[in-house]
Amino acid sequence: MPASWVPAYVGAGSNLDDPQRQVELALARLAEMDSTRLVAVSPLYAGPPMGPSDQPDYVNAAAALLTRLAPESLLSALQSLELRLGRSRDGSKWGPRRIDLDLLLHGDTVRQGDALTLPHPGLAERCFVLRPLTDLAPELRLPDGRRVSALLQALDCSQLRKLCSRGDGD
Ligand code: ADP
Ligand code: MG
Repeated sequence: MPASWVPAYVGAGSNLDDPQRQVELALARLAEMDSTRLVAVSPLYAGPPMGPSDQPDYVNAAAALLTRLAPESLLSALQSLELRLGRSRDGSKWGPRRIDLDLLLHGDTVRQGDALTLPHPGLAERCFVLRPLTDLAPELRLPDGRRVSALLQALDCSQLRKLCSRGDGD
């Protein structure tokens, strides 16, 4: 286990079974993980699916953590949480899912592997990842030095809608 606390960022997404609720639930459960503290959660966003378009829109958000878990351990904790939250995999890539928890960044770790790639592949091209990440940490940079806010500015994110939180009277 790393000797010190490392900042890590997690992306949450859902497009089944009341996606907003699934994402809120998952974000709350991140606070219960061992050797990890939940520091902040982003607003929620709704947007069209990536990949097959014959599926409902997604709700996405991101969370900032401090963790003493190594990257592989944090990912397996996220995968067990997905299962506890009722994720079942239908096997289709980018198909509909009740909850998806991705490890976006773990400190400055760079890793390339089937089981774990860091930063998360696709991070730099996805509005639904960069927008909540920029909300959480506008100054955040990827290990290669690119700023998430600059990556976001380079994209057309007009299809992404910020959701009011349930407490905002929507
Ligand atoms: P999706 O690509 O839609 O998130 P899954 O959640 O089913 O699909 O993940 C597929 C695989 O991606 C998992 O088996 C996991 O081991 C792998 N993976 C590699 N890097 C990461 C990462 N940074 N975060 C989450 N999963 C990852
Ligand atoms: Mg995933």
